[in-house]
Amino acid sequence: MYMFTAPELDYPRHDIAAQRRIVEETFADMGWHAPRMLADLADFDDIYLDSISQVRMNGTYTRGRVALLGDAAYGNTLAGFGTGLAVVGAYVLAGELASAAGDHITAFANYDRIMKRYAKIAGNNNAGPFLAPKTALGIKARNWFLGSRLFTLMMKYGDKAANDIDLIDYPQLVEPTPQHSRLN
Ligand SMILES: Cc1cc2nc3c(=O)[nH]c(=O)nc-3n(C[C@H](O)[C@H](O)[C@H](O)COP(=O)(O)OP(=O)(O)OC[C@H]3O[C@@H](n4cnc5c(N)ncnc54)[C@H](O)[C@@H]3O)c2cc1C
Repeated sequence: MYMFTAPELDYPRHDIAAQRRIVEETFADMGWHAPRMLADLADFDDIYLDSISQVRMNGTYTRGRVALLGDAAYGNTLAGFGTGLAVVGAYVLAGELASAAGDHITAFANYDRIMKRYAKIAGNNNAGPFLAPKTALGIKARNWFLGSRLFTLMMKYGDKAANDIDLIDYPQLVEPTPQHSRLN
């Protein structure tokens, strides 16, 4: 992973060579492991460049017949909860739709309520400024924090928060297909 701070970049999303050039130019004059990492970069044909962004919703993930799930909904940033949030959200939405026999108004209201509480673990901060500080002092502080006891405690708290949901055992309203049975 190559992270750097920059103004919002405009680049062709499907042009991997252009994205690789941006990374090469950004890290061009750095010492340490940077030259070797840049040399490795030439061999990767599946890289992608993206901003560390955070979606902020106004407390509801649904409108009309549209429901948002995962990163598009819960305001997760690069902090380690994204996959769990997306999977739990998908489970809850499917379960609520099945329980309400397809009445999406009832199902969406329940989905919004359950996920609004649980998705609080995503927090309100974008991890970008922490992960890619603007100054040498900031980089030192970040590295110190990542090796500190404080960080270990924060991770433990994170584990606890990630498990802070009692998933409803939704009734199985759909007959399992042969493929489902094999997976189970
Ligand atoms: C570098 C990195 C490290 C991460 N590390 C962790 C980690 O350690 N733990 C963790 O829990 N989470 C981690 N995450 C976050 C995690 O990957 C996401 O939170 C999770 O993938 C969100 O799932 P999603 O289904 O909402 O979105 P995605 O997984 O992004 O899926 C969205 C899909 O929609 C497709 N798509 C987009 N636009 C269109 C379109 N117009 N038409 C059709 N398809 C489209 C995309 O190609 C993609 O396949 C990390 C993320 C990154 C970038």
